[in-house]
Amino acid sequence: MRLIKDIHSDKELLGKPTISFEFFPFKTPEGEVRFFEETLPSLMGSRPDYASVTYGAGGSTREKTFEIVAKIQGDFGLPTIAHLTCVKHTIDEINSILDDAKKLGVRNILALRGDPPLGEDWSMTDGGFEYASDLVSYIKAQGDFGIAVAGFPEGHIDCKDGKKVDWQYLIKKIKCGADMVITQMFFDNSDYFQLADFLKEAGVNIPLLPGIIPVDNTSQIKKFSAMCGAKLPKKFTTRLEELGDDLDGVREFGIEHATLQCQELLDRGAPGLHFYTLNKSKAVSSVLSNLNLA
Ligand code: FAD
Repeated sequence: MRLIKDIHSDKELLGKPTISFEFFPFKTPEGEVRFFEETLPSLMGSRPDYASVTYGAGGSTREKTFEIVAKIQGDFGLPTIAHLTCVKHTIDEINSILDDAKKLGVRNILALRGDPPLGEDWSMTDGGFEYASDLVSYIKAQGDFGIAVAGFPEGHIDCKDGKKVDWQYLIKKIKCGADMVITQMFFDNSDYFQLADFLKEAGVNIPLLPGIIPVDNTSQIKKFSAMCGAKLPKKFTTRLEELGDDLDGVREFGIEHATLQCQELLDRGAPGLHFYTLNKSKAVSSVLSNLNLA
């Protein structure tokens, strides 16, 4: 299976954006059937370049990440990034996860510090890693993997010294060996462009993939944005409030907003679009179709 950085290089030569999708491990057997028989086949119609699968904060879905990546790659031929976090892992455990990953044909990892399980504060595991940059260096030393890292256009929520300090830590992660950055969701493109300019001025020249979520549920997006610190612009929340319980209206607005957001990002040089699909296909497919990218 190909390294994502090579896919990006090829698309750049062709002058075309990459299209990629984030999925999370399903919690039930029915969810698995729906994903492999409906959601993924439907999204494959948009001819994505690659996908990624998240890694849980703890519990049983964690083990599934790498299996799902292997199945997407094996059954659909779609290169897929496995997310991996430092949460509750010793270095020995990370080592054996990476060994197993190689056996499964997983070649690309999104190296993250991770969020602690719900209700717990972040604390480094004894014998583990403190920051994503430590995990990046460790994976890089294994040689065989393509490495992505997370970037935060508005600064990471825990970084109390401001976004530019957080962006310096991002540069550190990149210098430790990352090939590309995938951003947290954001709703105001100026946040993305500021981060892109900051990296450019620092001489960083790897793909900065904007993370896009087409909103389809008002209370859910408010919850997500509070959890990760991605601000919802006033105009955006006002419109959602006007729409109230009109679920179709909210979906249409989410598609329209994401379409405009993506169009501007591509027009101003973003190397591709990375969609937070929430394991659903309709809204993302509509956005891609509006952009003539489906
Ligand atoms: P880091 O880069 O280590 O940063 C963590 C904090 O430490 C930041 O505040 C940063 O400013 C600070 N920091 C970094 N380096 C230093 C240093 N040297 N000294 C002092 N401070 C420092 N979470 C999951 O649990 N599973 C997932 O699958 C998952 N997927 C994600 C995918 C994407 C695209 C994104 C954007 C996020 C994802 N997350 C996931 C969430 C992520 O794990 C959290 O945001 C986490 O809190 C930070 O992870 P990080 O890799 O950015 O950490």
